[in-house]
Amino acid sequence: MKFDQSGVDALMEITARPELVFVRGEGSWLEDHNGKRYLDLVQGWAVTCLGHCPPALVEAITEQAKVLINPSPAFYNQPSMDLAKRITGASCFDRVFFANSGAEANEGAIKLARKWGRVKRSGAYKIITFEHGFHGRTLATMSASGKPGWDTLYAPQVDGFPKARLNDLDSVKALIDDQTVAVMLEPVQGEAGVLPASTEFMQALRELTRQQGLLLIVDEVQTGMGRTGKMFAYQHSGITPDIMTLAKGIGGGVPLAALCAREEVCVFQHGDQGGTYNGNPLMTAAGIAVFDTINAPGFMDSVNERAQQLSTGLLALSAKWGMKGERGLGMLRALMMDRADGAAIVEVARKRSPQGMLLNAPRADVLRFMPALNISADEIDLALAWLDEIIAQVRA
Ligand SMILES: *Cc1c(COP(=O)(O)O)cnc(C)c1O
Repeated sequence: MKFDQSGVDALMEITARPELVFVRGEGSWLEDHNGKRYLDLVQGWAVTCLGHCPPALVEAITEQAKVLINPSPAFYNQPSMDLAKRITGASCFDRVFFANSGAEANEGAIKLARKWGRVKRSGAYKIITFEHGFHGRTLATMSASGKPGWDTLYAPQVDGFPKARLNDLDSVKALIDDQTVAVMLEPVQGEAGVLPASTEFMQALRELTRQQGLLLIVDEVQTGMGRTGKMFAYQHSGITPDIMTLAKGIGGGVPLAALCAREEVCVFQHGDQGGTYNGNPLMTAAGIAVFDTINAPGFMDSVNERAQQLSTGLLALSAKWGMKGERGLGMLRALMMDRADGAAIVEVARKRSPQGMLLNAPRADVLRFMPALNISADEIDLALAWLDEIIAQVRA
């Protein structure tokens, strides 16, 4: 198949894309317009959590599309209620509002916290977030993010997101004033390069927010749905947050997200929140297929085995190449390199022949791994062997 440049020119330019078109995907593999196959360790940034086109997801979407796609969020539909019950049953949250992206779910979390502040905390509205955090690309979620440069990109920012430092409780305490309503964080900072909040920090943060009457919001857009080896990453520290957001893996590749909250926090009144596509049965049916696959007996055990295999393999590579080790939780891992050659490794991996490999470097000296949760042991071994070969080539 030919690469069609005219189509490229019809798209708004927002990022540098390689000159290839993906035409097909299956499990951990993608195929481009030339028929070349790629082992995919990015999976759309932890989105296609069951790999590409998993049969259970394809079937759920196909069957649902035949009967009902979107009756409007002004009416109940069965798949949305069935998925909401599954999420509340598996978590400490009582109610769910479905959205279409992580940014939209976080925007909803921010609105819910501000509304709660108006009703319960005499107008408190500030939400403490973290340096290098990532919460999405709407104006409010960009303001909540701590990505360098984002404070001025679309200035003026949305007000009320002072930044603390991850794993530094004093930096949080120093920011609390009578206008503070919540603290919001990713249990593992993904875009920042896979930086986990420590168990002690999560527990101390819960203690602090409880004492101060503040909400604790966990952004589990990247870490939720089994990614870290538990269904939700907050469960590693045994705490109960007040609000959680989900996206990415929850839809297995389709646009689905969720804002989850404990009953006491659900203060939206009619008209405060909504959205034309929110909670439509087509996407929530997809969500049910993903949820049930992840929660099938034995599935999470194998995720944890594969994660251990990946971790051990990355550590061995690190030792061999004199790198700085690896880190992460479950199937969200990073190789900490000794040099800033991440971009070169990503490119050489993609260009590898006859088969390529898709990798991600969130920072110049960090490679991030977000494989399908159901990647096989052989595929992980293959990825590690190829990575070794690619590092050798880049560093030759
Ligand atoms: C990807 C991501 C988002 C944004 O999700 P979108 O669906 O791209 O809007 C928000 N928070 C975290 C932690 C993410 O990883």
